[in-house]
Amino acid sequence: MENILLHTCCGICAFCTNQFLKDNFNIKYYWYNPNIHPIAEYNKRLLSAKAKYELVEDTYDWRVWFTKIKGFANDDNKRCTKCWLMRLTNTLKKAKELKINYFSTTLLISPYQKHDVIKKICEDLEKEYKVTFYYFDERKSFYKFKNEYKTFGLYMQKYCGCVFSKNTGKKVKV
Ligand code: SF4
Repeated sequence: MENILLHTCCGICAFCTNQFLKDNFNIKYYWYNPNIHPIAEYNKRLLSAKAKYELVEDTYDWRVWFTKIKGFANDDNKRCTKCWLMRLTNTLKKAKELKINYFSTTLLISPYQKHDVIKKICEDLEKEYKVTFYYFDERKSFYKFKNEYKTFGLYMQKYCGCVFSKNTGKKVKV
């Protein structure tokens, strides 16, 4: 079975994605989410995902994240695109480092993210890094499995992740 590096945004989305990827791939869960604010919230999400899955854990370089989104704080579309691009670019760099030929992201299963923008970013990165993008659209699965996460004690966050989404309570599509 092929390895796939799955950018993992949180335990819930990892759980939902796992349900249909696990039969086709040996999943390596890659944790790189420097967008999450504050650190207490970051740790909650990280520990929840870690309790269920073994993670390839990367650094919490929130200062770098702020540099990337600088100037776009109040522009949801541009800020979020920069945020997704940063996390997914690192996923591709890690896939190359680990010599993994496939990648994908749990962001695709979330009904709260801009699916088509994330898909396009992944397609562009696939060409640039020559790592095969595994695309899926199982957003319905999120609703199907969402009640099961409680069984596993997974933490359900109340906002997307960054300080701006926290302040606006933004959880739905940005
Ligand atoms: S709202 Fe979510 S996707 Fe957008 S910048 Fe904040 S953390 Fe990133």
